[in-house]
Amino acid sequence: MKSYDAIVAGAGSMGSAALYEFARRGRRVLALDQFDVPNALGASVGVTRIIRLAYSEHPKYVPLLVRSYELWRALEATAREQLLFVTGGIDAGLETSETIQGSLRSCDEHRLVHEVISAADVNRKFPGYRLPPEMVAVYQPDGGFLMSERCVAAHLNAALASGAEIHGRERLLDWDASGGTVRVTTDRGRYEAGALVLTIGPWTPGVDSELRRYVVAERQVLLWAQPRRPEYFEVGRFPVFNMEAPEGRFYGFPVHSVPGFKIGKYHHRRESVEADAVDRTCHAEDEAVLREGIQRYFPDADGPTLAMKVCMFSNSPDEHFIIDRHPAAENVIVAAGFSGHGFKFCGVVGEIAVDLATEGGTRWDVELFRMRRLTISGGSERTRPTRHP
Ligand SMILES: Cc1cc2nc3c(=O)[nH]c(=O)nc-3n(C[C@H](O)[C@H](O)[C@H](O)COP(=O)(O)OP(=O)(O)OC[C@H]3O[C@@H](n4cnc5c(N)ncnc54)[C@H](O)[C@@H]3O)c2cc1C
Repeated sequence: MKSYDAIVAGAGSMGSAALYEFARRGRRVLALDQFDVPNALGASVGVTRIIRLAYSEHPKYVPLLVRSYELWRALEATAREQLLFVTGGIDAGLETSETIQGSLRSCDEHRLVHEVISAADVNRKFPGYRLPPEMVAVYQPDGGFLMSERCVAAHLNAALASGAEIHGRERLLDWDASGGTVRVTTDRGRYEAGALVLTIGPWTPGVDSELRRYVVAERQVLLWAQPRRPEYFEVGRFPVFNMEAPEGRFYGFPVHSVPGFKIGKYHHRRESVEADAVDRTCHAEDEAVLREGIQRYFPDADGPTLAMKVCMFSNSPDEHFIIDRHPAAENVIVAAGFSGHGFKFCGVVGEIAVDLATEGGTRWDVELFRMRRLTISGGSERTRPTRHP
């Protein structure tokens, strides 16, 4: 049986970052992915992901975000490719909304540069927007987007260059961690390692029955529309946004790299799914959900549909991440339940997972991500659901 310091199951967004981190630290590491490496079926699909610093979900994410920006810039240097584009970011909603209040809480607690802007001023400054007068916006200059699919490829390339081994088209079937070593069984073979990191995203509940109550996969759809006024939706003129509207939470991007203004809606049609059985066809009902947001808030983007894509969230019960030891094994680390807002954190999640696997602890405050919070009844400020991209 071939032996490694660590095995990373799932070479997607988080797995590719953890793999690179193990390899960078000189560990003998293997990553397994059930599909091609990289693949277009994981949660990074759809070209771009939002990154922002004034984090409405909880101020505790902000130090991790500061580190994430550093790590993305470092990865860009390694990859010799721009991965992070700073466009400015808009959080919009009623003044009393969780999005606005949460964003301001993070700004205050961490003294982040920001501006509170009226809807009329947003619409004047950024003419692609048509916010209704009852909304306000928190503008943050650090907001922007990551080229998510390129980021995964960059982590994988950097990991390979640092000595990692990657097996595509090899599915983790089972693991057994008795006796301090983890023995891993796949559909192609058996391996052993000092530690196993599980980064299998929306497939988590299907692979590990013990984690089923912590992670649920949910179908999402993205849409790219041809703007009627393309000049309003260019990078430099259109900040990324995260909007709490009466219809739900929309998020979107300027036109970049592929044609069209890109928009998504959190929870989309609220379809919990088994990852292997997700419906990857985009239907008229999916289009209608996203058209509603375009027509109401971005009418100058309401041209023909160019593309649509299905993707999956992996939701935890309170929509905060799960980065912790497996309940049944000290040397199995779970990084899952990123609940539709994890991509921007890939690098730092990789660092934390590797810290936990190799050092037994981490310098980062990860209390918010421990599984035990989900087994304590009653709920708290921390366990209130707040989900934005
Ligand atoms: C539509 C959409 C929009 C989003 N927008 C944002 C955003 O704007 N900003 C943001 O920060 N986040 C965003 N997110 C969330 C972010 O993309 C995810 O949190 C992140 O990509 C999750 O990464 P992951 O590593 O957990 O999963 P994935 O990237 O899906 O990786 C899981 C990998 O595990 C592999 N795998 C699964 N089972 C097995 C097995 N048994 N054996 C081997 N391999 C296996 C899969 O093939 C896959 O490659 C969005 C997500 C979606 C779907």
